Amino acid sequence: MGVFEGKVAVVTGAARGIGQAIAGKLAQEGADVVICDLQAEWLAETAGIVEGLGRKALPLAVDVGDGDAVNACIAEVVKVFGKVDIMVNNAGITKDTLLVRMSDEDWDAVLRVNLKGTFLFSRAVAKHMMKQRSGAIVNIASISGIIGTAGQANYAASKAGVIALTKSTANELAARGVRANAIAPGFISSKMTDALSEDVRNQYLSRIPLGRFGTVEDIANAVVFLASEQSSYLTGQTLNVNGGMVM
Ligand code: NAD
Repeated sequence: MGVFEGKVAVVTGAARGIGQAIAGKLAQEGADVVICDLQAEWLAETAGIVEGLGRKALPLAVDVGDGDAVNACIAEVVKVFGKVDIMVNNAGITKDTLLVRMSDEDWDAVLRVNLKGTFLFSRAVAKHMMKQRSGAIVNIASISGIIGTAGQANYAASKAGVIALTKSTANELAARGVRANAIAPGFISSKMTDALSEDVRNQYLSRIPLGRFGTVEDIANAVVFLASEQSSYLTGQTLNVNGGMVM
């Protein structure tokens, strides 16, 4: 029996990368998983993984920055499953450039998905979790939100915002038995990071004490911990999963 037997989890940005690995790991541990991404047809692969593990998958097209769509998504989850136990806010984008070259549009787009999206889903599930008097919210932040990476003013600000949002959420919901924590991944091999040049990748590698890039499974394992009773005395925390890049 997995640690999430009988639980219902929602994962955003679940079509690929870290989100797909999280959905798979939660299903492996027994959860039924609502998988959200911009387009439902992108979710077929993830749905196959979840169903292949003998769990229910509910693929939903949701733009995490659209409040009405987010509320409709959680209403659908509650209609289908009757509850929501685990919320993983993973959807995220980058639009990297130096501060002096950053357009208003690039700033707004990244804050909208990464920070507002996390707020909208947290607000939508909080109502149900508070009523249930149980639940776990796990927000995917980033090492950038801690160290303020050059070329990522918008992204770093959004992820620092996610860390602060996590703390406020944790403070507000603790008395109702709902926990909220964040994960700050370091350099994780994925489509997002494959786009970086060889030079930049080698620079990062030289700064990682454990001598390797992280895997999507490294992050999914941390999500399992923070979403499960194994972390029942943790709330408002940010877990750094970065190979020791920042201590
Ligand atoms: P990815 O680009 O491979 O996947 C992100 C997913 O989010 C995609 O499927 C995309 O379609 C979806 N998405 C984008 N905008 C959306 C929106 N408006 N609504 C719904 N879905 C949307 O990225 P990844 O590397 O798997 O990253 C996942 C999370 O981890 C992100 O929040 C990212 O910031 C964070 N992170 C990644 C790394 C890394 O090294 N890869 C490091 C630190 C943090």
